[in-house]
Amino acid sequence: MTVLVFSEQVPTGNELLAKAREMAPVLGGQVIALAYPGSPGPEGFYKRGADRVIVPESPHLAGDVPLAENYSAILHQLCEEHKPSVVLVGSTRWGKEVAARLAGLLGCGCALDCTSVSLDAGKTLTVERLVLGGNAMSSEQMAKLPAVLTVPAKVIPCLPEAASPGGQVERKSFELAPPRAASLKVTPREVSGVKLDTAQVVVSMGRGVKAKEDIRIISELARALNGELGCTRPIAADLKWLPKEHWVGLSGTKVKPRVYVAVGISGQIQHIAGMRDSALIVAINKDKDAPIFKAADFGIIGDLYKVVPEIMNQLKTCK
Ligand SMILES: Cc1cc2nc3c(=O)[nH]c(=O)nc-3n(C[C@H](O)[C@H](O)[C@H](O)COP(=O)(O)OP(=O)(O)OC[C@H]3O[C@@H](n4cnc5c(N)ncnc54)[C@H](O)[C@@H]3O)c2cc1C
Repeated sequence: MTVLVFSEQVPTGNELLAKAREMAPVLGGQVIALAYPGSPGPEGFYKRGADRVIVPESPHLAGDVPLAENYSAILHQLCEEHKPSVVLVGSTRWGKEVAARLAGLLGCGCALDCTSVSLDAGKTLTVERLVLGGNAMSSEQMAKLPAVLTVPAKVIPCLPEAASPGGQVERKSFELAPPRAASLKVTPREVSGVKLDTAQVVVSMGRGVKAKEDIRIISELARALNGELGCTRPIAADLKWLPKEHWVGLSGTKVKPRVYVAVGISGQIQHIAGMRDSALIVAINKDKDAPIFKAADFGIIGDLYKVVPEIMNQLKTCK
């Protein structure tokens, strides 16, 4: 009974392989990775735990926009052939569509956005996931296998890269029905170039910052710490002071830096869900009862307009 893994993002694929590797001895089968065509170094999946790596080929896979219906059909064909007990898919917006379509084709259970996945010796599969807009954690048991699960990036630590050279990537051709939708035109969106998901330091601002021009105070702190600037949802979505690439949280980017500094952020669960795995969390808030302090390793109770300039002064004297 195999475990099948698929993500269009290589780092997430590597993380899913670690979970698949843990499950494979219980299920008594192999770990098969479906690589996304065009993604770099599919052979790298061998070093992260795959027994087989398959790259799909079909004329229908050409084009700028990958269609979820094609990839769910490919996974379905692999499921028919290998009868996996569990299919793990990266929990991106697109990955979730692929997973849901696949579960529909297989007629099996599907759990999205799992933040914990465990398979016991009796092959009972249990997951945990945030529900109700991130206000509650739901523990769920899959009634039977197979099951399709999606897991967000940075939930599962990767296995260390194996020194062995690994195997040969298999290129496999798939029969796909002509797509039912076609992309007519793709216009790239302007993006700010921020890279929150890989940053070692993230300094995030919330509604404690009172005016758009005050973003400068927080971005200077981010720059001084060689970090990226993050924000809460209201700053990006409601006030539109920053592009949404800066938005951290359940519905924004999930970050896992070495240091996360939360400035003027109350610490609602939807924000915490996106940054709680940071190695060290520092919070600056003028309200001593702000929930952010429960998630923080270090807290500074004070007005950000006094605290941040003081930190900048201290940093200058350290240099
Ligand atoms: C379905 C759903 C998804 C969501 N997804 C996300 C998400 O992904 N990310 C996200 O961030 N939010 C998300 N939210 C919104 C979330 O619930 C909160 O509303 C939001 O995180 C609050 O943002 P904030 O901390 O900036 O603002 P507030 O909650 O208003 O907090 C501002 C804080 O600043 C402090 N403050 C004020 N002035 C100062 C000062 N001068 N110095 C120091 N501190 C000061 C206050 O004490 C307060 O704690 C989501 C909500 C829903 C319903």
